Order: sequence, then structure tokens, then C-alpha cells
Amino acid sequence: MYIDSPIQSIGRISPAYQKRLLKLGIKNLRDIFFHFPRRYDDFSNIVPIAQLCLNETATIQGRIAEIKNIKTWRKRIYITEAFVQDSTGTIRAVWFNQPFLADTLKEDSLVSLSGKVSLDDDLYFSNPAYEKLTTNYKLQTTNQLRHTGRLVPVYPETAGLSSRYLRYLIQIFSPNISQIKDWLPPEIKKSQRLLDIDVALRQIHFPASTKAIQQARRRLAFDELFLIQLFTLKQKLNWQKESSLKISFNEPLIKDFVASLPFKLTDAQRRSAWEILQDLAKTRPMNRLLEGDVGSGKTVVAAIAALEAAQSDLQVALMAPTEILAQQHFKTITNLLAGQNITIGLLTGSEAVVIDNTNPLSPSLREGNPPPLGGVGGDFKKLKKLNLLESISSGQIKILIGTHALIQEKVSFDKLALVILDEQHRFGVEQRAALQKLVVNMEDGSKTSIPHLLSMTATPIPRSLALTIYGDLDISILDEMPVGRQKIITEIIAPQNRQRTYEFIRQEIKQGQQVFVICPRIEIANNHELATNDTDIREIRGSFVDISDVKAVKEEYKKLSQKIFPDLKIGMLHGKMKPKEKDQIMRNFKDGQTDILVSTSVVEVGIDIPNATVMMIEGAERFGLAQLHQFRGRVGRGAHQSHCFLFTESSSAKTSQRLKAMISAKNGFELAEKDLAIRGPGEFFGTRQSGLPDLSMASLADIDLIKQVRLEAIKLLQKDPALKNYPLLGQELKKFQKTIHLE
Ligand code: ADP
Ligand code: MG
Repeated sequence: MYIDSPIQSIGRISPAYQKRLLKLGIKNLRDIFFHFPRRYDDFSNIVPIAQLCLNETATIQGRIAEIKNIKTWRKRIYITEAFVQDSTGTIRAVWFNQPFLADTLKEDSLVSLSGKVSLDDDLYFSNPAYEKLTTNYKLQTTNQLRHTGRLVPVYPETAGLSSRYLRYLIQIFSPNISQIKDWLPPEIKKSQRLLDIDVALRQIHFPASTKAIQQARRRLAFDELFLIQLFTLKQKLNWQKESSLKISFNEPLIKDFVASLPFKLTDAQRRSAWEILQDLAKTRPMNRLLEGDVGSGKTVVAAIAALEAAQSDLQVALMAPTEILAQQHFKTITNLLAGQNITIGLLTGSEAVVIDNTNPLSPSLREGNPPPLGGVGGDFKKLKKLNLLESISSGQIKILIGTHALIQEKVSFDKLALVILDEQHRFGVEQRAALQKLVVNMEDGSKTSIPHLLSMTATPIPRSLALTIYGDLDISILDEMPVGRQKIITEIIAPQNRQRTYEFIRQEIKQGQQVFVICPRIEIANNHELATNDTDIREIRGSFVDISDVKAVKEEYKKLSQKIFPDLKIGMLHGKMKPKEKDQIMRNFKDGQTDILVSTSVVEVGIDIPNATVMMIEGAERFGLAQLHQFRGRVGRGAHQSHCFLFTESSSAKTSQRLKAMISAKNGFELAEKDLAIRGPGEFFGTRQSGLPDLSMASLADIDLIKQVRLEAIKLLQKDPALKNYPLLGQELKKFQKTIHLE
């Protein structure tokens, strides 16, 4: 038997069990050992029967004096009743619906029973864990026990596959553990005082003590984090091997621009812009994440970077996840840079537009050709795509703003020096990979440089995550809001106050405001298959158990438009609609043609609707805190006081505690830390988005361990960047990279 033998080739596992193991993702023998316990039952307290106490969890060992099956009066359930004896006394044990036990645990056999002691007329065990002992059980050490009398592992299970069976498998195959090669460099094991892999694996499944569990966990968690660190650090090194065009810092230009703004930059904006400008002035490619709450003013920071590049006669591409957002950026950036003699283009799936600021009094404007995007000077032209593409490749367009069209269309730049990616978390792993390819395409063979990369996100990333999955990025943080921002009043609404809230909403709309209603689902489905393929539902999957009463967009839309607000204009938006349709609906709302927009979480992305003042969220407990925070950021953008109402049908203490954080937390970072702690990284981002493989042992809350691991990884790569002297580790890293790209 080899460690990599597929389980189908293992004769001792029946085909039925092979199927169930596959369901748990266990494909070969090795996987069995890497299927880690979820928790442990502590059955290590072995006592004489006479000393058992009520409610104590204990193990007794003795002889079966009597065992029989009893059918209950309803004749539906079997009760198996046994009396077990040791030299100090007798105790009764009962099991439900396991009549085979009367054959397994025959009279006179020696058994070990573990469980909690209950009281009926007398003390007894209800459904205790059991196992048979060999004849001379007094000599049997705990090490030979499997299900009782020790720390007993409890595993993630599936239908028809119990922890009891998994324990059996792991124990009979445990000699094979020694075939597993330890790929962690010995010097790291030594300096970090880590167990050898075989010891760690044996201890994680059949631990000698709680201390042994901790040590085993630390070793296995170290392994998981170490691969992630090596991966991200190597990416960083690879990125830094390339070179980018140097964009020199033009102090007067930037000073003048900042002075011309209608507001004063926050210190955080100044600091971040400074960090970015310093990066740009180097030939080492920048790979920086600009992180800041909704409304913290990331766009103007991006504009500063774009300005510097464009005025150095270089090009900039800014990519946003939706058309409407790309248009919004186009409008904002052209406004901000109106006096700057820069030609700016917009390319989306449906349009190609250019504003030529180099000739502000151009004929097209004088001919009364107003720019439909509003208020922008310069020579505005709708172009044929082909012509736009030409202006890009000729270098005339200095800043190109757009959607995925920037990757999809055959765009070729003249001197692309900077790529800015907005709402970075909205791009999946594949899209981010495509962006990297775009970067390569744009090199165009003749040029040897890649663009500097600036990503922006409103999802606050907790430090531990930043150090792991974003370990290859440098980070700038906007942790300060522009002055004068109103505080959004957040309330948790109990079901009985729903009506009152509707009345409030009606008042707001009467005063000309607009309202968002967010629901966790698109429609009420009658199976547990979630009715979508897009990002909205993914985020809530973790907590999805009973979907019967979860609010759905279609139903809410019907209810609001027919029953509650028949006189108002109500729109509906969800991820199953075509992008064009979605854009149209968003635009109607933006233009004030609808009063209420009922939507799934697709509305999350950074759209600016100053007139919206109420964010009402149904089934709030179904969303992560970071996501709720994002929703809330959709309102409070105008002068009017805004409100966020969190509706929940759940009365659990955990839910209310979690939602209360929405009221108490000072900023998105605090919420994100909480979210990560509660939901884990997969649910925090959606695993597919993060590209993060499942961590079974490592906790992202363990920032100390993460730092240790990172230090060791840096040390190792400095010493041996190609891992030449560590072939086993190199192999393991290759395997790991494959799992990441497959996500
Ligand atoms: P986000 O970080 O969510 O992308 P935006 O860049 O869209 O935020 O900025 C939100 C709003 O704040 C915009 O209307 C912008 O003009 C304004 N703004 C940005 N910086 C400041 C500042 N320092 N002071 C006042 N208003 C600002
Ligand atoms: Mg934004």
C-alpha cells in the first residue's frame, strides 16, 4: 500500500465507503490522514463504576453482565439495554435504534464505555461510545483504544460515514504515515520547535494530551501558512524582477492640482498619494493596494497618480467592474482633470467616448453638442470603437477608463505605465489573472516594461489576511473620512416595527429621497439549490440552513409594489439579469425615475446616488458584517440625514450581538476583523474570489504565527530563492500552486 494509492484500490474499504470518502474530498490514503478532526471528546477520565457521578463525562471498563433489545410500546424504536460490571459495581447503559449492538457486545464480553452519566431511577449511561476490549483489558493501554477512554477525535462527516469509521480507517492504516515525507526544512523545524510531520499527524488523530493537540496543530497550521507565504512572496519577487516605466515626481504639478481641488485632502489621502508617487518614480513595478471605506475618497488619489503619468506623456488604464461605474469614473476624472490638457477615453462593451481637453473650445461644443455625461468641458466625441483603439495605440489618449472591455477588446497601448483596478475584490481570480495577461500583451514584445499596478478596494482587509493572501502587495490605507460626513443612523428593526419603518420610508420619499431594499435571495426556491451563479448568494452560503423564510427580491418587489407602496415607482435588480438590463435599472434609479430599488447584493459596488437616504436590509443576519457595511455606504452621500435599517427574523443572541457591531463599530476595519473571526476567510471573501485554498488547521486570527511563518519564508527565499536545496518543498509548492489556480 502506497501513500498515494487511490482509495478505490484499497481492498479494505468497500465501494460504498469509497464513494462516501470521495464526497469528503478524500481521494487517496494520504488524504485520509489530512482529514483533520473538527474537535475532540475528552473521554480520558477512566473511573471505577462505584465512583461515577451524575453529569460527569467518564469512561468505565467492565464485563457485560446482561444485554437485550427492548421494543418500545409504540414498537417503533429499539432500545438496547445492558448491564456492565466491574469489581466495584454495576451500571446500566442504553442505546437507541442500534439493535445490532446486542450481537456486537455479547454477554461476558469486556467493554469500555464513555459518555455522560445521567439519572433515571439510578445512574446510567445514555448512548455511550463503546468499544470491545481484549481479554486482559487491565493491561490494555489507552493508546490501543479508539473510541473511548481517551481524547477521541470527531471529524467532519457525511451521510453514512461516521467519525467512528474514520477513526477505524486512520488507525488501521496508521503505519503508512511514516511514508509521508517531511518537506519542511529541518532548520525551520528546529528554530520554530515544530514536531516532525509523522508525529504531528499521529498526534492530531490520536492525541496523548491536549498539549499534544496544540503542538500538532501548530505544526500543521505552520505548513499551510508556509506554502501560502512562499507562494505570495515568490509572486512578489517575480513581479519585482520585471521593470516599469519611471514616472518622475513632478512636485509643482501635483501641488497645483491639489490646491485646485474644491476640498482639502485628508491626511490619509496625502499619505497614500505620497506612497504611490514614490513607487511610481521607480523602475521597480508598483503593486499596491489602496484600501479605504466607501466614501473615503480613493478616486482623487487615483486621479493624482493618473495625472502624474499622463503629464509625463505616459498612459494610464483604469478598469472598473461595471459600465455604470466606469462612466462615473470617466465623469469624475474628466471633471477633476478638466484644466489639464489631457485626452481621456472611455471604453465599455457598449460605448467608446473621448474627451479631448487639449482643445477646450473645440467646434463640437460650440455647435451645441453638450456632453451627455454632464458638465464637462473639452471636446467630447462619441467614436467608433476602431477609432478609439487607434487613438489609444497612437498614444493620443493618455487616460483610458473602462470595464472588462479593456481586457476583452484588442486594446494596444503606446506607452502604458500605470494600470488602476477599482473595486479590486469584485474581480475574480481569473479576471485578475487576465489582467496580468493584459499587462503582458501590452508589452507588445518590443517594450520590456510592465505597468505599475494600483488596486483599490472598499473591503477593509484585516491585517492577518493582508499578510497572507495579499502578502505580495504593498498597502496604503485611507483610514480617515473627509470632514463633514454625516453619520448614518443604524437601527436593528424587530418584526413588530416593520410597519412603522414603512411609514418612515413613505415620508422620506415624499420629501424626494430614494430608498434601497436589499434581500439575500433572488427568489424563493423550493430546494436548497441557490438560484444564482453570481456573487450575491455566495457570500451568505455559510449561514444557509433554512431558506424557507429568507426574503427574496422577486417576492419583496411584488409585495412592495402591489400592497405596501402601490402608488410609488419601484425597481428591481438582481444578478440573474443581463448586464445591460442591470445598468438600465441602476441608471433609472440614479436619475430619480424610481423611488425604491429592491435588489440583491449586486448593488454593492461603489455607485454614487446622493439622493438615496434609506438603506433597508432584509434578512440582515444572512450577510457578513463587512458586506452590510458596504451596503450602508450606499447612502449618506448627500446632505440629507440617512438611515440604515437592519431587519432580522432571527432572535438568536449571536445574531443580535453580531448586528449590534454595525451600530458600535467605528469603521469598516473593525467590522472586517469581527467578520473574519466569525465567518472565516472563505465566507469573508467567497473562496473563489480570494483564491485561498481551504485552511483546515491554520487560523487567520493567529497573527503571531502568521508573522513567524512570514519571517521564516522571507529568510528561506533570501537564502535560496529557487529552493534548489529543498526539492521536496519545491514539489509541494508546485502542488499548492495548482490548487490555487484551479479554484
Ligand atoms: P470611494 O473611496 O468610495 O471611491 P470617492 O472617491 O467616490 O470614494 O469619494 C466620495 C466623495 O467624496 C466624492 O464625492 C469626492 O469628491 C469626495 N471627496 C473625496 N475626497 C474628499 C476630501 N478630502 N474632502 C471632501 N470630499 C472629498
Ligand atoms: Mg470608488
